[in-house]
Amino acid sequence: MKIALIGCSGSIGRQVAEVVREHPAHFCFSALIGGSDKEALEKLCAEFCPAFAGLAEGGEAELPVGTRLLQGAEILEHAFDGADVALIAAGGFAGLSYTLRAAELGLKVALANKESLVCGGELVTSAVKKSGSDLVPVDSEHSALFQALSFRRDAPFSKLILTASGGPFFRLTKEELKSVTARDALRHPTWKMGPKITIDSATLLNKGYEVIEARWLYNAPFENIEAVVHPESIVHSLVSFEDGAMMAQLGYPDMKLPIQLALTYPERLPCVKELDLVSLGALHFYALPKEKFPCYSLALAAGEAGGTAPTVLNAAAEVAVHAFLKEEISFLRIADTIEAALSALPREDVASFGQLRETDARARRSARNFIYD
Ligand code: MG
Repeated sequence: MKIALIGCSGSIGRQVAEVVREHPAHFCFSALIGGSDKEALEKLCAEFCPAFAGLAEGGEAELPVGTRLLQGAEILEHAFDGADVALIAAGGFAGLSYTLRAAELGLKVALANKESLVCGGELVTSAVKKSGSDLVPVDSEHSALFQALSFRRDAPFSKLILTASGGPFFRLTKEELKSVTARDALRHPTWKMGPKITIDSATLLNKGYEVIEARWLYNAPFENIEAVVHPESIVHSLVSFEDGAMMAQLGYPDMKLPIQLALTYPERLPCVKELDLVSLGALHFYALPKEKFPCYSLALAAGEAGGTAPTVLNAAAEVAVHAFLKEEISFLRIADTIEAALSALPREDVASFGQLRETDARARRSARNFIYD
């Protein structure tokens, strides 16, 4: 199976490379596209010799004979040439153009970039429908739902229940949240991830995104999607059915399983260590403390409003989290920035990717004005 990997040097990209390394008879790379990390791209290309490689943020790279360097607009045009599956692991709004292109080409799309569905849910799902592409979740919660639904997107269910670790601040009071720092937020209790998503986990914005993601993947109304805090991160999500039965997927927190399964489903290959049930101890579930973490409700409200609202939400969040990581704003200011952008830019219906790109740029400007003026 030939994989075009978009976002090869981030946290997910590196774990995709591990999966490929472990099953060389099953997987190889047709393309490796990085952001700006030239060294990481060169190392991966030397090891895997893909047909195409490139840096989305521009730049040359020293590549093996047989690997063609793509630059500028060529990247989007040729990244999927000869691929069986597009694995979209680029971060943020930047991932959407690749997801759309792969979906339009009718490729199987293994989606690790949740912003593609948060911002472009309407465009992506209609492209998938039109081309007959197969959109498969890599996000661990949505992979768990897919497994609990026996890989049937049309299976009738009564509720999708996403689990959330709660992040590092779940037990803090609103007062204590005022003074938490980026360094505190980057200490995630169970999952090892990139900095943006780790902060989004601490604000619970990430869980709001995942509700929107689930809405598009499983065509579920928002009232049928719930989130609960599960600090052990062993139950990755659950589906409940009309008769009261609940199906869950359990495992140690390790992204390699959902990555690999997105590529091979419904087949399975050896992947991670099996759970040792007896040594696990108790598993806990708590109500999501929405009142302490306004980003979750802001995401849900934007998701329900639809149109350009989630794109505004996401652009403001990307700017605010960046500022928080540089210690320019406080933790609670992230939600304030998002709220301000959402009220400054009224919702519009979505007609095209170009329109979303313009909305994204406008919302970023608005968020920067809010933070720095
Ligand atoms: Mg997740």
